[in-house]
Amino acid sequence: MEKKEVKALRKALIDWYLINQRDLPWRKISDPYAIWVSEAMLQQTQVATVLPYYDRFLKRFASLRHLARANLQDVLKAWEGLGYYARARNLHHAAGIVLDQHGGTIPQNWQDFRILPGVGDYIAAAVLSIAFSKPYAVVDGNVKRVLSRLFVMEEPVNQSPSKKIFQQAAADLLDEQSPGTFNQAIMELGAMICKSRNPLCQTCPVQTWCRAYQTGRISEFPRKAKKQAPPQYKIAVGVVFKNGRVLITRRKPEGLLGGLWEFPGGKIKKSENAATACLREIMEEVNLTVKVDSPLCRVKHAYTHFKIQMEVFCCSYISGRVKLNGPVDHRWIRLAELEKFPLPKANHKFLSQLKDWYYSLMEVGSGNAEGGKERKSEVKNSEYGSRKKGQDGKVRRRGH
Ligand code: SF4
Repeated sequence: MEKKEVKALRKALIDWYLINQRDLPWRKISDPYAIWVSEAMLQQTQVATVLPYYDRFLKRFASLRHLARANLQDVLKAWEGLGYYARARNLHHAAGIVLDQHGGTIPQNWQDFRILPGVGDYIAAAVLSIAFSKPYAVVDGNVKRVLSRLFVMEEPVNQSPSKKIFQQAAADLLDEQSPGTFNQAIMELGAMICKSRNPLCQTCPVQTWCRAYQTGRISEFPRKAKKQAPPQYKIAVGVVFKNGRVLITRRKPEGLLGGLWEFPGGKIKKSENAATACLREIMEEVNLTVKVDSPLCRVKHAYTHFKIQMEVFCCSYISGRVKLNGPVDHRWIRLAELEKFPLPKANHKFLSQLKDWYYSLMEVGSGNAEGGKERKSEVKNSEYGSRKKGQDGKVRRRGH
């Protein structure tokens, strides 16, 4: 594309954006910290999902200083449900480094900012261009889709060797006079007009320069390499009751779901059933002998690279002292206290069933909902605990 055309394309795109951009809380702000938070949250996450988290997070941690000094558990709690928790841990860690090494001022140069935990090429380009007008081009899924159609690019968007090529194409197109606005404009175009399915080409501001549109080949782009179906793992999880409390453990700080709390459990081996796996995992992970009272439910959950099918059991403590093998911390807490702890989404999926199960069990006995020792006997005596009083007052097993 000739220079003149590139210039006209940039202008058309920015003009369109200035009029049509969505009214989002991270637009038209200049606070680099708030921009950084928004970009971290928006990575791999839809705008509608981020909106409530963004406001709550900034109310809770109003400045970089507040975030840097906050307890990691509080940060994870504020992030709970947003997924990809490494983003929260890294943001917290990076805020601490900025406070300690840069006096609380976010560095404006690529080297110092890009080196911070969790700051990859995308975050660095987005924050530095939007907050400080630095000439770095962003490349995310939306941008790749727009570029691949504009320039009929053959490189598959989902393969890493293509990354450099898309980065160069984005850099060539970037409006260096207004890099922040241009970056936001091309991402907005991808989100609102140049959608994956049924792009709105008739209202597209860059239609004149779009080779895929001009040659009638839109459906061929972006190119994608075929991916294998993600593996699925079967997991057994036990909610262990002891004296009216349940056991939760904390995952090690790094890695998948790092720093979050969960109920103990793990992968089911091919040679065992789910209940046996639950007992084995609890023994291996926390050194407790327990018995399975009742299956609670089955939960399915998808992570980025794999899926899980989780069999959840209600268990009673029998013997042993907690000795951790894998987790880094544990607590015996009442069910009502679970809300204070950041838990993975897969655990959240069965909390209401767990509470229903527990409180219906309480209806059977005479103990109050938070009873200590009374509760223990009620739970321990319920070998098949999922019982409920029928209208006739008789105790019934609840179907599972
Ligand atoms: Fe995308 Fe259509 Fe615009 Fe081309 S003309 S950039 S395919 S919306």
